[in-house]
Amino acid sequence: MARSKLLQIRSKSFIWLVVGIGFLYLYFIFKIAKIFALIGVLAMGISFFMFSRAGHFAAKAKEIDCPECGRIIRVVSRADACSHCRAPLIDEGNGIYKSVKPKK
Ligand SMILES: [Zn+2]
Repeated sequence: MARSKLLQIRSKSFIWLVVGIGFLYLYFIFKIAKIFALIGVLAMGISFFMFSRAGHFAAKAKEIDCPECGRIIRVVSRADACSHCRAPLIDEGNGIYKSVKPKK
């Protein structure tokens, strides 16, 4: 099963945000090396960059009906995945997405 690209970017940027807050927290609580504050700020910067990228992708995303579960989903590239049923989807070139569920 695949994960929707939009969800992937959002969860990755969320992880960076948590990492950034974690390092800043360590720095402020234990007053340890300044490098921790630096890493924290850097990680939060990456997080905001990725959030803005997710917003950029979301604006460009196409709305399609998932061929597997029939719900309206948003896809951002030729190969993406349904955010509901996680079916991997591929654009066949004419804007119509086909499910490419691996056979068991
Ligand atoms: Zn689906």
